[in-house]
Amino acid sequence: MPSMDAVHPTYDDGGAPTLPSLATASTLRGVILPSSPEILHDISISTSGHVEGIEPSRTPAAARYEPFAGTLALPSLCHPHIHLDKAYLLSHPTTSHLQPKDGTFQEALSLTSEAKKYYTNDSIRERMDMLIVESVSNGVTHMRAFCEVDATVGLMCIKAGLEMKQRWSNHIYIQICAFAQDPVLSGENRELNESLMDEASGLSGVDVLGSTPYVEDGDELQRSNIRWAVRKACEKNLALDLHLDYNVDSRQQSKVWEVIEELREVGWDDMNTGQTSSGVRKTVCLGHCTRFTLFEKEEWTRLAEWTRNMPIYFVGLPTSDLFMQGRPDDGEELTDRMRATLQIPAMIGLGLKGTLGVNNVGNAFTPYGNGDPLEVARWGTGIYQMGTGQGAELLYECVSGRAKEAIGLGDENGRKAELFTGSRADFLVVGKQLRNVGPYQRRRKTVKEVVWDAGHERATFFGGKQILLPQ
Ligand SMILES: [Zn+2]
Repeated sequence: MPSMDAVHPTYDDGGAPTLPSLATASTLRGVILPSSPEILHDISISTSGHVEGIEPSRTPAAARYEPFAGTLALPSLCHPHIHLDKAYLLSHPTTSHLQPKDGTFQEALSLTSEAKKYYTNDSIRERMDMLIVESVSNGVTHMRAFCEVDATVGLMCIKAGLEMKQRWSNHIYIQICAFAQDPVLSGENRELNESLMDEASGLSGVDVLGSTPYVEDGDELQRSNIRWAVRKACEKNLALDLHLDYNVDSRQQSKVWEVIEELREVGWDDMNTGQTSSGVRKTVCLGHCTRFTLFEKEEWTRLAEWTRNMPIYFVGLPTSDLFMQGRPDDGEELTDRMRATLQIPAMIGLGLKGTLGVNNVGNAFTPYGNGDPLEVARWGTGIYQMGTGQGAELLYECVSGRAKEAIGLGDENGRKAELFTGSRADFLVVGKQLRNVGPYQRRRKTVKEVVWDAGHERATFFGGKQILLPQ
């Protein structure tokens, strides 16, 4: 039944919202590049959707009248880790009756499990569409989307994710991770969960296997979950993504050493790691890892040494981590809060590979936020105390080139926050056309200005095509 207040066609009606139209660009004239902000440049785009050339505008006086004159062109953004299937549960009419009361991690796990019982094909797709549109409108052209697979939802979420991947393929690249949020080795549904994950990870269009070792009962089964995930990813020729060490408890040992040993055992210990059947480099992403904030210096040095030549990328998820972790125990002072999230820029300084992601939006794990990676980069300025222009550029890389690299698209040559000839024409364009800039309105001409405060005037280009979103 369509709801009374439905204003758009719904999937359950047999319809689906119309996709935004695309405008092909052959040259982007009169834009600003962060390396030379005082000169207008023209970017020519090949028919294959790549940057063919970047040159100072030959006729700058005329270029001022071009549609993107005076705007700042940057490489597009990427979500290296986002839960596409459980966004906006707290506000969607089918699940909004399930609101957090104490905001704890356990409550988030159980509320979200409960919410799954109310999923419908329509509501999943509607929430997915909302997150995709919000992401694209902020400059995202690539995402790794986690879709849960378990006894409650079966293959419902992953099938919706795969459908979105196809449906939106001209607008955004969506990489699908078959994700076991629930235990596959403990609890009453373990066998069904495991066999559903086996089926899901073999579906055409799935590139990543994801798991959550810490939901298993006890240390031994958590280690077995890591072993299972590494081996299953190998068997299915997939990249691997683990939610790991999501605690700040010195009594629990970090499991990262076991992950590395398992990877070595199967020979996954080389940067030259091979590809999935659709050409994604088989990297290993480790998300959250808040337990690392208790590491001693020796452990950091060991981690950098052990991972140096391995395709292991650490994914900091600060908006979720700070919300979920480091809460005072019962009886402790509310003023005692440990702020725990991976110190990604400092880790990069140690030679580790890292990136930053949004993770959850609008659910009990992270009620606040949106699909804009630049919000996370902006937060990073304060969280990691990165006040310099160079620091801002690193934060931008973490939500752009480094994020793409982490999910197996491209390599370290694409990290920089600067467009270059030969790269794909995936752009974020920030600001207004010169003639539309009013008096006293700020223009952003550098990466740091965008990271500190990007504003809302943005245009997104995917493979040389501008995505025309309704205003
Ligand atoms: Zn996550």
